[in-house]
Amino acid sequence: MCTIKNIIAGPCSIESKEQFFITCDKLVEEGITNIRGGVWKPRTKPGGFEGLGEQALKWIKEYKETHKNIRFCCEVANKEQVDLALDYGIDFVWIGARTSTDPFAVQQIAEALVKRNPDIEVFVKNPACPDLELWIGAVERLYAVGIKNVSVIHRGFKVYNTSIYRNEPLWNIPLQFKIHYPNVKMYLDPSHIAGDKKYIKELCNMAMNVYSYDGIIIESHYKPDIAWTDAKQQITPEELGGLLEEIILKETEDKSELLSYRDEIDIIDNNILSLLMQRLNVSVKVGKYKKKHNMKLFQKERFISLLNKLKTRGKELNLNEEYIEKIWNIIHEESIEAQIKIKEDL
Ligand code: PEP
Ligand code: MN
Repeated sequence: MCTIKNIIAGPCSIESKEQFFITCDKLVEEGITNIRGGVWKPRTKPGGFEGLGEQALKWIKEYKETHKNIRFCCEVANKEQVDLALDYGIDFVWIGARTSTDPFAVQQIAEALVKRNPDIEVFVKNPACPDLELWIGAVERLYAVGIKNVSVIHRGFKVYNTSIYRNEPLWNIPLQFKIHYPNVKMYLDPSHIAGDKKYIKELCNMAMNVYSYDGIIIESHYKPDIAWTDAKQQITPEELGGLLEEIILKETEDKSELLSYRDEIDIIDNNILSLLMQRLNVSVKVGKYKKKHNMKLFQKERFISLLNKLKTRGKELNLNEEYIEKIWNIIHEESIEAQIKIKEDL
């Protein structure tokens, strides 16, 4: 279950000592113990605010002197940034979405990190493009040099035709990641998916209450309206406090109702499996018949009419057409494969 320890919050960018210290104080008041702060900012075009670099690290170090229990993290995108961040006592780091697309950069960062501290905790954001393998590859590069304490951050993907969000969540990609690496902690970055604070709550709910993510990294600024970067998506520490109360404390202790639904689902799934087996057995018989009578395996008209009948029936049952089409395409493909094997068996 997600606890306050698994929440990382802080400004998109560290802009001034005043902005940073006030924001940190307010976050600490809300119980936050892990603070993020942008030190070097990757900007799409030149000319924008690119972060204060070493000056920001000096303020982090200064704040830490009076707040020993607070841990700080920042993004690192190359070897020099790793060295400087660790010189100033940064506790953990993240690799950003642009950097995790670049195997050379990830390799360089991994080697620089392990040299300085093999036990450091490293978060890897999903690459900006929707490429699961690239994300896995970045994590494997860290493992390969000997860094074991790796977590990942789902921050959404750049795709054409995005809907309401700045970056599409594409929930299936982090889900596939979790299936590959069930022990790697998955954090949500709702700020960079949303692009607008009005979507943050629904994204957090989805991640925490549907997909059981392990934590959240979120942008928070004491005056979001005047933030130098990502103003629209940042929330105040007070708003964050309210959000966390709703999200973290939402899980009820009594799970008996849920468990009984899960039992029901297990029974239905078993029934689906045996029906699929029965269907495949009949398909095999059809395959033998087609072979004996020298018929073509793929009968397009038959498949189209079968699909149409199912869609009509599906509509009556309130089932989505696309869902039916996807499922029966897979079922049909498996039947054809079974029938090909029969045809090849002499
Ligand atoms: C950030 O977290 O400040 C940031 C730049 O994020 P991303 O790499 O997800 O764009
Ligand atoms: Mn940002």
